[in-house]
Amino acid sequence: MVTLVQRTGASLGDRLPAPGWRTRFAPAPTGYLHLGHLVNALHVWGLARAFGGHVILRLEDHDRTRCRPEYETALLDDLEWLGFVPDHGDIAQFRLGATPGRQSDNGAAYDAALTRLGDMQRVYACTCSRRDILAIAGPTVAGEEAAYPGTCRHNRQSPDGTRARRVVLDDGEVRFEDLALGPQQQIPSHDCGDVLVRDRLGHPTYQFAVVVDDLKQGIDVVIRGEDLLASTGRQIMLAHSLGRGTPPLFYHHALIRHADGRKLSKAAHDTSLRELRASGADADSLIGEAAKRAGLLHAPDRLAASDVAQLFA
Ligand SMILES: [Zn+2]
Repeated sequence: MVTLVQRTGASLGDRLPAPGWRTRFAPAPTGYLHLGHLVNALHVWGLARAFGGHVILRLEDHDRTRCRPEYETALLDDLEWLGFVPDHGDIAQFRLGATPGRQSDNGAAYDAALTRLGDMQRVYACTCSRRDILAIAGPTVAGEEAAYPGTCRHNRQSPDGTRARRVVLDDGEVRFEDLALGPQQQIPSHDCGDVLVRDRLGHPTYQFAVVVDDLKQGIDVVIRGEDLLASTGRQIMLAHSLGRGTPPLFYHHALIRHADGRKLSKAAHDTSLRELRASGADADSLIGEAAKRAGLLHAPDRLAASDVAQLFA
């Protein structure tokens, strides 16, 4: 018997789409999964199982310079060990090779989307380095991004000079109702400027790939950590430019953090699920621990992946 944290307010079920809606669990195989990923899985599977959603497994391996096959194998092993079963994107199929759920197999979709935006005169080549952008945008507060100042939009570069491409973002505000955080308003043209959609190596960027994937896979609800909240307005704008009439709904959940406030990260080698498993932890205890640290349980009771709906029902 687990003790749930009580919540108030309008029922989440009333604000979600009709049963059959789709969400995704979309880790990047650039390191081992840690407790932060488990917290995201709890929200994705918990909300889907409680309110009639379907979970799609997507491997976000667009950044080919950082992805490694052993991370992908470990990620699939961890999910199976924990007991989280996707409704689309079978783990066994991922192990066999090509699936539409792997970004590296979706190059044609990103190219087609870029062509579509190019036909609308929204795409331009960008030769700016990060240093160039910082030099013009000025110093930024730690953790804040530098907005792209539009240098190459006004001074069109030869497309032969780089493979990097940006998409023109319209001025104006984007408003949306976050399912967890309430009403939001962002001005992407001010916050980030024109979005980099392809990097200088020719790889789609995260911002572009997720929008194309969410559109292609018919994702209705995006459930992710609040560190991505600031990306939402620009993603809604990009999706609109690509013909999406109604944007997906968003649910941004809190991240679990170190005692000093830093978020857990793969880069910092925070204790991975596989290390915890190797040191004797069992799956249900880890899930309960993650639920406790995410504020979904009062005490770290054991909890099976098949029972996470009760965290939200
Ligand atoms: Zn530029």
